[in-house]
Amino acid sequence: SVPLAFFCGIGAGSKRGILFKGGVAIEALKNVKAVVMDKTGTITKGNFDVQKVLTQDEWSEEAVLSMAAACESASTHPIAVSIVTAAKNKNLSIEKPSEIEEISGKGIRAIQNGRQLLCGNVKLMQAFDVDLSSYQKEGSASEVLLAVDKNYAGCIIVSDTLKEEAPKAIARIKGQNLKTVMLTGDALESAEEIAALAGVEEVHARLLPEDKLSELQKIREKDGSVMFVGDGINDAPVLAGADVGAAMGSGADAAIEAADVVFMNSNMDAIPQAIALANKTGAVAM
Ligand code: ADP
Ligand code: MG
Repeated sequence: SVPLAFFCGIGAGSKRGILFKGGVAIEALKNVKAVVMDKTGTITKGNFDVQKVLTQDEWSEEAVLSMAAACESASTHPIAVSIVTAAKNKNLSIEKPSEIEEISGKGIRAIQNGRQLLCGNVKLMQAFDVDLSSYQKEGSASEVLLAVDKNYAGCIIVSDTLKEEAPKAIARIKGQNLKTVMLTGDALESAEEIAALAGVEEVHARLLPEDKLSELQKIREKDGSVMFVGDGINDAPVLAGADVGAAMGSGADAAIEAADVVFMNSNMDAIPQAIALANKTGAVAM
């Protein structure tokens, strides 16, 4: 039988845009010891802006941005959207590739005019043996590299911003005696800057979607039951693998399917609110 209090918890949650998938999700949330979060779209707004385009050899800024946009036009990743938008705003022609492939957690490989374009992170470049000796990471912003026929051609610096409520929400989670951890596929510099601004205690960067799941298992072994909060872009397996998976703000079907809790809004306050609600619900049930 399901205690009546669980229904009260479910009702109180739904008023705040927090949807628990049944009493089991509430019960599991009470036992959580660590809150593990994705960076992009969870702790940051997930709206990137192109800041700068750096180029190499004969390539112009326009050429780099246009080729990158051609690759990214096939992707729904927030970084991809920012690059396509920037190219369109500059009225650059975006020539459709004849072949295009998205490589999860790395970027895009495409064929345009018989040339192979690679557009993504250092891991993507390494996977295709691109010589990166002339590339140097500039600062803490996220960077998208472009290679043409395995030659490094330039890099697009994109920046995302912290959600305004992040520091307060993280402080509240810590006040609930829970450990806070960030997992991201982004570079360590970008990850550490966001973590420091938000007050997140532990950071693991440069992770592929599958690495996020194994990192989560390690945290569970060390700290106990874990809640994972993500937007579902590249992290549905982690959502499914956590003791409590929470999908935040996205309409991504895969995320909603894999999650135990759905946060209808992308406001981070929902995380400590859900935990507080679960704890309260448990007390009533006893
Ligand atoms: P996060 O962990 O921040 O949510 P993802 O797992 O979605 O990030 O992506 C990890 C990294 O992979 C990104 O930071 C980016 O470097 C790279 N990446 C993924 N998809 C793309 C894409 N379409 N274009 C460029 N880079 C991408
Ligand atoms: Mg993500």
